[in-house]
Amino acid sequence: MTKWVYTFDEVSEAEALVGDWENVRGLLGGKGANLADMTRLGVPVPPGFTITTVACNAYTDAGGVVPDGMWDQVSTALTSVEEKTGKTFGDPKNPLLLSCRSGAKFSMPGMMDTVLDIGLNHEVAAELAVSSGDPHFAYDSYRRLIQMFGSVVLGNPDEPYEEILEEFREKTGVATDAELSTDSLKEIVERFLAITPRFPSDPVEQLKLAVEAVFKSWSGKRAVDYRNASNIPHDLGTAVNVQTMVFGNLGEGCLTGVAMSRNGATGENHIEGDYLFNAQGEDVVAGIRATIPVAQMATDMPHAYEELQAISDQLENHYRDMQDMEFTVENKKLWLLQTRDGKRTAQAAVRIAVELADEGLISKEEAVMRVTPDQIDFFLHPQFSIESRKEAKAAGNLLAEGLNVSPGAAVGKVAFDADTAVAWADAGEKVMLVRPETKPDDVHGMLAAEGIVTSRGGRTSHAALVARQFGKPAVVGIAELDIDLEGRSMAVGERVIAEGEYVSIEGTSGEVFVGQLPTVIPDINDKWLSKLLGWADEFRRLRVLANADYPVDALRALEYGAQGIGLCRTEHMFFEAERLPTVQKMILSDTTEERQKYLDILRPMQREDFRGLFEAMSGLPVIIRMIDPPLHEFLPAHEELEDELKDLRKDRSVWQDAAVKEVEKVIARVDDLHEENPMLGFRGVRLGILMPEIPRMQARAIIEAACDAKENGFDPKPEIMIPVSIHVKEIERVKAIIVKAAEEIMERRGITVDYQVGTMVETPRAALTAGPLAREAEFFSFGTNDLTQTTFAISRDDAEKSFLVKYVEEGILPVNPFQTLDRLGVGGLIKIAVDGGRTQRPGMEIGMWGEHGGDPESVALCHELGLDYVSCSPFRVPVARLAAAHAAINDAG
Ligand code: PEP
Ligand code: MG
Repeated sequence: MTKWVYTFDEVSEAEALVGDWENVRGLLGGKGANLADMTRLGVPVPPGFTITTVACNAYTDAGGVVPDGMWDQVSTALTSVEEKTGKTFGDPKNPLLLSCRSGAKFSMPGMMDTVLDIGLNHEVAAELAVSSGDPHFAYDSYRRLIQMFGSVVLGNPDEPYEEILEEFREKTGVATDAELSTDSLKEIVERFLAITPRFPSDPVEQLKLAVEAVFKSWSGKRAVDYRNASNIPHDLGTAVNVQTMVFGNLGEGCLTGVAMSRNGATGENHIEGDYLFNAQGEDVVAGIRATIPVAQMATDMPHAYEELQAISDQLENHYRDMQDMEFTVENKKLWLLQTRDGKRTAQAAVRIAVELADEGLISKEEAVMRVTPDQIDFFLHPQFSIESRKEAKAAGNLLAEGLNVSPGAAVGKVAFDADTAVAWADAGEKVMLVRPETKPDDVHGMLAAEGIVTSRGGRTSHAALVARQFGKPAVVGIAELDIDLEGRSMAVGERVIAEGEYVSIEGTSGEVFVGQLPTVIPDINDKWLSKLLGWADEFRRLRVLANADYPVDALRALEYGAQGIGLCRTEHMFFEAERLPTVQKMILSDTTEERQKYLDILRPMQREDFRGLFEAMSGLPVIIRMIDPPLHEFLPAHEELEDELKDLRKDRSVWQDAAVKEVEKVIARVDDLHEENPMLGFRGVRLGILMPEIPRMQARAIIEAACDAKENGFDPKPEIMIPVSIHVKEIERVKAIIVKAAEEIMERRGITVDYQVGTMVETPRAALTAGPLAREAEFFSFGTNDLTQTTFAISRDDAEKSFLVKYVEEGILPVNPFQTLDRLGVGGLIKIAVDGGRTQRPGMEIGMWGEHGGDPESVALCHELGLDYVSCSPFRVPVARLAAAHAAINDAG
């Protein structure tokens, strides 16, 4: 015979039957499993029993028929509860009252049904009024039961019940239901019964119908929608927990509250929560009455407080995590009604994980796994302080909540279109771009704005993708936000915000506030975070380097834990305002000699930059890439030059003639360098093949800088990288130039520098012919921005403006491949290249740079593919350190 019902003290039996705790949760639901588990631990839990999820599924499968034998088992379990409580269900003299609640394996807050105070009828209520000495309590409970039963079990609308309550409040001049007199409550009971003719007075009948109502609520629309949205399987079913009612509203000596075993906001290790005297659970959460901080219980009810503290410790020890508990004190006796792992902020998650490990409750490895890379991200963006959010909420300034798609806090004046956002930002204002949804046309406004808000769209909407990519806080999909683009205002209900007014958004939580909230920069040196990342470093195999072009970036990267520079894009140094004219003259030179003249001017500048990097990263690798972009990027646009020419020609004079000629020459060169498809054109190593004096200059600058750094007592480790190669002969040629230049410098300076020459694998051909490339290249690094672009044959510059976002929205591509590495395609090529490279050159060092370096999933893939390091922007280094540790721990486990 299937066992459909387990009393709370039969959990060991359930465990023996289904094996591990996960399965027990599957059978009894999360809440039922924990209630039973607490019972086993000796924690005071009101006695009760759980009807299994299997029974619910059998009921659903049979089209709403209770499985054979279930009611008999309920009856036996009920008898056992009666024995434990010394009360009898339905006995007016000594009544047992029950609650009946849903409880699935995964929490689905508010999605399914609950009925309280089951077991009351006229007779029982009348006796209870006498035996409890509190008629108000008896009739208030009775009217609650009829109301809940009517709406939850019988499906009546709630309004008629509320209307009756309102009528009595008005008639008797009271503000809240709690103040209604006993006589009013008695009358209300009659009125409620009149509109609830099917309310059964038989307690057993009440219980049966309530249980069936909970079963049915699993298939209700609300629950189905919630499961769809949260990816919870539909075949799990819900359990039903039937439990003895305990009352926190039986007068003095009674209270009810919620408590966390540690502070969920900061992680501090002390019990935290609120309670109310003479109240029911929902009064605490509803916030109608001002609650009392739980610490006050130490004075108000010391015994119960001590017991709660002891139970809190016991549950934490047992579950090895911070607990969120509901409790009630009925006539000075403490009862626990629920416990579960508590929700917490990112900051608290880090501190709690570290302290639990320090206390020996969990291992360092578990602590590392308890924090997600996203939570690390919290420390890297500005935030609103907890107090300022609390204050804003208390002042009624929380305007709305939407999807928290891009973390961080931002404050700005509302602008309803991208051009306005740009104009205001140019004028020095802080702007919040608010749109129904964003399109590629809005990107300039998104970039100019501090943050982005949309009323429509989901996690992969254009707004969400672009915001994440550019690190802009964003809240999207705020359904109740009504945007009137013509009227230049937006509203949530009655609250109207005009364009130009300030709002503040918290992209980590999805909150939108009216007004300007002060922002704080979280402390990346937070001592618990540093400790946790230190542990992560012990577990990870992948090294984490940073993309940095200047010594200041290098220093920040070091502070964040980078183990070297994975990518220095040397052309960024060419773009500097005081260098650009020289760079342009170098490009416009007609002869190699002339070009050399300008390169000679640039060389000491580059040398200084490199020395700074080597000194900042002493003892760590600094990978410097030879110039990569097409040369036309350094020259003005054709149209701009034409305008300049027009202006000059307006007013001809002798000296202007020379100027006109000069501009004409630049135009000719710009036209010369023009390419229809520059990303696939004259760039990368190809520049060095046609203009060998450029890599020669750069190699000299690098080796001279390394010699300088060495003379200054540092330990430079230059690695010189040749970009966008497609053939080993390219590497052969440019490497020869580099080696020759390096040898000359070292010889002249009498200093030896250990350096390597490698290449970037950024094209499918390079990946497929990695073996031959490795004959020359001493190391590889994957430029996954270009490798994604060339593998997919989609432009990294244009695709997001047109089809790519739609592709992701419609599920054609699971993710934006420029954000998360494409496992099969790009990952497949990386695998081929790693095998090819290491077969040719065993132990060859291989890494990855590109925007993917800070994306946790991509980091995990790099680990899997056997890479040695990933490199990302300095701000992403801590995220990558944790992601790499997760990958290693998962791999080992
Ligand atoms: C890449 O292509 O991934 C890369 C890092 O180089 P860039 O983004 O400069 O082309
Ligand atoms: Mg590239």
